[in-house]
Amino acid sequence: MIELPKLPYEFDALEPQISKKTVEFHYTKHHQGYVNKLNGLIKGTDFENKSIEDIVKTSQGGMFNNAAQIWNHTFYWEGFSANPQKNPTGKLSEMINNKFGSFEKFKEEFENFSATVFGSGWSWLVINNGKLEITGTSNADTPITKGLKPLFTCDVWEHAYYLDYQNRRPDYLKNFWNILDWNIIEKRI
Ligand code: MN
Repeated sequence: MIELPKLPYEFDALEPQISKKTVEFHYTKHHQGYVNKLNGLIKGTDFENKSIEDIVKTSQGGMFNNAAQIWNHTFYWEGFSANPQKNPTGKLSEMINNKFGSFEKFKEEFENFSATVFGSGWSWLVINNGKLEITGTSNADTPITKGLKPLFTCDVWEHAYYLDYQNRRPDYLKNFWNILDWNIIEKRI
């Protein structure tokens, strides 16, 4: 039995970048929905007592899709805070400057990449063999099955931004930086 991880802040904590309505809907309908579906699928199977990460790494089909969406959403929510540290520092800052030229250039590249993830999916900053990389996944797909270490993710499914931004994904991406907490991201390295 999988439980929906608690949101680390109130529904309105990410306003105005992400509205209370969007956070509430996204968390209580979508994220909770994946939990409910997965619990139905694992009931009475060998997966019933496994952790969410184990299920993601060892399942396929509908079970994988729901488990990976639970993991991805938890990771997405946990990257934000109401009073975020808005810049990387120390080693991560150095890695970003080395790879992308500057933090501003990195943000631009991440936004451009995320704007072109086709359809439903996720964009990620990951570590691949010790090096930073921007990557995308489709639908429920997740970097944790590919040997990559994710540092943060942006949900680019329309349900993540449509109530607030309609089809304007680039505006959602621009505002995303105002809630992303680099103090949390640095601890994920
Ligand atoms: Mn979502």
